[in-house]
This record gives sequence, structure tokens and C-alpha cells, in this order.
Amino acid sequence: MRNISFFLPLILAACSNAPSPVFDAPNTIRIMEALSADDMKGRRTGSDGNIKAQIFLKNEMSKLGVFNATYETTFKTKPRPNRDGVIPPDSPIYDAVNLHGLIDMDDNDAGPLFVITAHYDHLGERDGKIYNGADDNASGSAALFAIAQSFADNAPKHDVLFIWLDAEEMGLQGARHYVEMSSFGDRPIFNLNLDMISQSQVGEIYASGSYHTPALKSFVTKAAKGVDIKVLFGHDRPEDGANDWTLQSDHGVFHRAGVPFLYFGVEDHPHYHQHTDEFSTIPIPFYKSSLKLVVNTAHVLDENLESLAKKVSP
Ligand SMILES: [Zn+2]
Repeated sequence: MRNISFFLPLILAACSNAPSPVFDAPNTIRIMEALSADDMKGRRTGSDGNIKAQIFLKNEMSKLGVFNATYETTFKTKPRPNRDGVIPPDSPIYDAVNLHGLIDMDDNDAGPLFVITAHYDHLGERDGKIYNGADDNASGSAALFAIAQSFADNAPKHDVLFIWLDAEEMGLQGARHYVEMSSFGDRPIFNLNLDMISQSQVGEIYASGSYHTPALKSFVTKAAKGVDIKVLFGHDRPEDGANDWTLQSDHGVFHRAGVPFLYFGVEDHPHYHQHTDEFSTIPIPFYKSSLKLVVNTAHVLDENLESLAKKVSP
């Protein structure tokens, strides 16, 4: 009897939820810490620190060993327009680089394509201070590795393209470059974007996009089951005004092109776009929960990609 009473809770626990996809949380946190370390100098597009981050990311991509193909695209970018929407004509031009890793499950490249994005650039250095951008967005950049790794043992049903985007902080320009240069052909597309998923003192994260794609609510709720995190829906309605995040990170470019999206991100916080957004201020238990949530969600979305992804070609 003792044995049965010992095993019964384990059996019940195993039955109550589908098995969670597996990823290496300490490895993901190591990647996040490295990206937000001082030697990356805040990863501003075109800077030496940004190039160092690219080299680091490419090395981690090859170490992971799950991608069938990796490649990069380069483009020229100018700083974000000023408050009047003007880019001064004498602004410097920067070289920007998007990094791609493809898990290729679809030999014909005809079925839905799942594009998972996170920007790796940040603000660089200002007034002698390094803006490390741990939450924004070393957190999402590292999470892409957790998701990709989780597909190694639990393969996706569809092609999954991971993109570490550059120049988000200069106005979503990495996403713009990808969407403009891609020939999606007849393929339906869906975008999952992660930007700032690690900094919450109250254990909350937003899932944004269900206003535009209502089916997402049940999928995210399913993915959040058993994860120690409070998922809120919102920040995606036109009447939210400045609190409508629909166009405020890279998913906005996909949305404008007609691609359905889901965005995960935390509420603005005191470290947002401050030099204090560094690894030491990140609540690691929350980040671990957040990683579980986004990994689970990626698997649920892949399972349901036929109903979620949309064709955007004319
Ligand atoms: Zn960001």
C-alpha cells in the first residue's frame, strides 16, 4: 500500500497535463546573461558590441545543433525618425544584420510557416553608461534558443523559422527588412514575437494579439496550465491608444502585412530603456516561468498552425 500511495500522485500529475516540452533553463539564462553583459556594450545596431552579439548568437546556434539551415541577411538602416517623423538627412547609416535558423520539416515548403522572432539589438551606450537591455531584449533572444531546443526532442509539425532581428530600437527595421525581402509565395504565415519577457515583480506577462486573432486565447490558456505565471490578455485594441502594443514591437510589421501574430511581453517597468535594465535586476524565478510559458505556447501554436496561419501574398 505504501508504494501505491507514493506513486498515485505522480500518476495523477502525469495524466492531468500533456507532457511539457523540455528545454535547458540554466543554459537559456546563461545566454541571456552573456547577451546583457557589459562587453556587449548594449548591442546598438552597427556597433562593435552588436557585432560581438552576432558572433555569440551564431556560435550558440551552431552549438544547439537543431537547425537544418542558418543564414544571415544584411541591410542598411538609419536612426529612428524624430518626434516629427523626420530622419535628419545627415544621419549616419548603420549596417544591420538579421540572423535566421530554420527547422525544416516540410520538404515541399508549401505548408504553413511558423516565424518566431526576437530582437537582439538594444540602445548601446549613453552618457558613459551601458544600456545592457537584459529584459529588452536579451530575455526574448535567449528564449528563442529554449524554444528551438525544445523542438529537438519534440519535433514541430511545420517549418519553424527563428529570426534574431536587428534594429528594432531604430524603428522595427529588422522586421521590416525581413517582411519586405521575403517571398512568402503561397505559404500561410504566423508570427510569434518575444520582446521583454523577464521583468515583473508581480508575476504577470501579457499575451497580446487575441483581439485580432481570438482563437489565441484558448491556445495560450492551455499552454499556461500548470505554469507559475499570471497571463493577461490585452494591449491590442485600437481604443487602448498608446497602450495598444499592436505596432510597438516587431510583430507590428507582420501585422501590417496581414500576418496574424502573438506577442509576449511584460508591462512597462522602472528599468525599461534605463541603464538599470541589467541581469542583476532580473527576477530569475519569473523568467523561468516565462520561458516555460513561451516554450509550451510555441508547441501549442505549431499543433494548431493550419487554423492560425494566413496567406499574405496578393
Ligand atoms: Zn524591445
